[in-house]
Amino acid sequence: MDNQHYICAGGCGGEADEPGVCKSEACPDRNKPFKECGCADRKHNAADKKEN
Ligand SMILES: [Zn+2]
Ligand SMILES: [Zn+2]
Repeated sequence: MDNQHYICAGGCGGEADEPGVCKSEACPDRNKPFKECGCADRKHNAADKKEN
C-alpha cells in the first residue's frame, strides 16, 4: 500500500504522492488528473502508454 502514487499519463514523466493534476505546460495531458499507480520500482509498468 505504501507504493501508491500518481503519475501523468501524458508522457511528461510527472508523478506525485498525492492525487492531483499535471502542471507541465508542454504535456498533452496538462490539467488532467494523475493516474493511480502502485508499482514498487518507479517504472510505472501499469501505465497504459505505448512506445512505438
Ligand atoms: Zn503530464
Ligand atoms: Zn508507478
